Amino acid sequence: MGFTSEHFTSEQQLHNEVNRNRLYEQETNRLFDLLANAGYQYEDCSTIAPLTSKINRFKEEQNALILAHHYMTPDITFGIADYAEDALGLIRRAEESSADTIVMCSVASLAECVKISCPDKKVLCPEKLAGCSVSDSITVDDVYRLKEKYPGVPTIAYVTTSAAVKAVSDYIVTSANVRDLIQALPDKQVIFYPDHSISSSLNAEFSDKEIIGWNGTCVVHDNYSVDQVMHFRQQHPDAHVLFHSEVNPDLYLHGELHGGTKAMLEYVDKHPEVNSFFMVTECGLSDQLRTKYPEKKFIGTCSLCPFMKMISLDNTLLSLDEKNSWKYEINFSSRVLEGARNAYLKTEYVLGSKRHGC
Ligand code: SF4
Repeated sequence: MGFTSEHFTSEQQLHNEVNRNRLYEQETNRLFDLLANAGYQYEDCSTIAPLTSKINRFKEEQNALILAHHYMTPDITFGIADYAEDALGLIRRAEESSADTIVMCSVASLAECVKISCPDKKVLCPEKLAGCSVSDSITVDDVYRLKEKYPGVPTIAYVTTSAAVKAVSDYIVTSANVRDLIQALPDKQVIFYPDHSISSSLNAEFSDKEIIGWNGTCVVHDNYSVDQVMHFRQQHPDAHVLFHSEVNPDLYLHGELHGGTKAMLEYVDKHPEVNSFFMVTECGLSDQLRTKYPEKKFIGTCSLCPFMKMISLDNTLLSLDEKNSWKYEINFSSRVLEGARNAYLKTEYVLGSKRHGC
């Protein structure tokens, strides 16, 4: 009996399938090594292995860099991201990279910030509808009204504002560099928006300056109450309690630290003698720390950001598919890009040699 072309085709298909299964098994093992401490079972890793394999292949083919905010889920942070950082760290990574494409696994306002700092790169956001309650609290008209009410007072936009709001602001900051900027400005009054907790906390810290704030609140960090933290402290007297700056400043008295995500991570790193922590912030941070420090306990309730959690392996894969990527690409009108970039460069100028990003 002779061999037909159908025989060769089915043999080739079988060979391809065996190879693919072998690759998926290797990927499952790689993922399980990374994710077991974050609570993933081997079966979970086996389910996501085909997705992470494809994303990592596309990433290589397209000279792309995948950046993940600390609030992403561990499958993204450990499975596909080149770096997981806070907002400032991600912007620095994008600036330093020679990649042609940056995939920002984060809310859209942060992806926009990377486009503002790296206008020549293609920046993809896997879910452009991933907004933010803080960002949604202020519009361009609100900024114009503030400028009218406080003429000549510099306006400082937080990283979670829309590109249009950034474009009509004087400066752009993250929680990691807002203090450096306020310190460096000669003005006795500044307007900072939109996060209310951060502006209250800045007012308490800068006794010689007035920080005019806005009423934006973070749906994640606004969830915590003094009673909840006091109750936790009674149950776990040895644990250290670390607050993110977007938490209501009334709670800060009851913890060991308040600061940005980077400051919280550094605190854990610098306190090897402490075995348990309550990270009063989004759940992604504790997930990441559990993997990094399996011997420590990260206890207490955490809060999920519904916006950050809109980013998934599925939509990240879609964004890297060249047929679709235009739908995920961040672009602005030239007017918005020019305005936001001016604010970005002005911030860089005031901060001098301190690298800062958006
Ligand atoms: S954690 Fe708060 S500030 Fe950050 S994206 Fe979510 S809602 Fe916005």
